[in-house]
Amino acid sequence: MSVLPGCGDKTSEDSTKTKSDKIVAVSTITIINDIVKNIGKDKVEAYSICGVGIDPHTYHPKPSDPRMVVNSDIVFINGFALEHWIEEMIRGAGGSKTEVVVTEGLTPMTDEKGFGDPDPHAWFDVTNVKKYADNVAKGLIEIDPGNKEYYETNLKEYRLKLDSLDAWIKEQINTIPESQRVLITSHDAFRYFGRAYNIEVKGLQGISTEAKIRTEDLKNLIDYVKQKDLKSVFIETSVNPKLLEQISSETNAKIGGTLYSDSIGNEGTPEGTYIGAVKHNVNTVVNALK
Ligand SMILES: [Zn+2]
Repeated sequence: MSVLPGCGDKTSEDSTKTKSDKIVAVSTITIINDIVKNIGKDKVEAYSICGVGIDPHTYHPKPSDPRMVVNSDIVFINGFALEHWIEEMIRGAGGSKTEVVVTEGLTPMTDEKGFGDPDPHAWFDVTNVKKYADNVAKGLIEIDPGNKEYYETNLKEYRLKLDSLDAWIKEQINTIPESQRVLITSHDAFRYFGRAYNIEVKGLQGISTEAKIRTEDLKNLIDYVKQKDLKSVFIETSVNPKLLEQISSETNAKIGGTLYSDSIGNEGTPEGTYIGAVKHNVNTVVNALK
């Protein structure tokens, strides 16, 4: 973004701005960062605060994170109580950042097991991600109206890809025999996925990895896996696998594979995009439960 030097300009921001004409966009998690890349393409330099494989629920900001926010033009956050740590950084940046909550306009599922907290993992219903993409485009257009058409074209293209992903997931999940259509994972990241694609989901831990795991919950889940005679349970790239391995060792269920929950994969790999990570998840689940 070209910014004319003027009164309100903070010197701290100048270093980034003079380097390039691109919009500097910071997202809290890799999933949102990938959506920003798809809509912003060449006009945007996109960074994620939580890197690949990092758990955003329990994230402790690095000393360099506030600087990243200060040097940005726009900040994209998930909302639904995922990123407790971001508001302080935005305030610290002077409070004048354009902040876009990408879940705006969506209704959260709530945590019935807990205190009715919003479930932040809305990105596992692909229809919701169309809304994420709309909000990303809206934010970019707001701060860079000269490239409105560019962002709108990219949005249209990306929405079509999401539509075909959505249809493909439905097809794939339907190939799992109904008695095995249960997704057991470390934490409750897949409730939107379950609702959208007709698969029962059970996480050992609640919707946040901050929640305590009770021995009782572990025992109940083991009983459930035995009772359903499930073939597989799943671990997640951003969560410690230990307890799921215990469930596997005490039942007939194998570890069916590793899923991307709150982070996508490494940049440059097929799983390094939101769409690629979801495809990996679906293929892993289908292969392990069929
Ligand atoms: Zn999570």
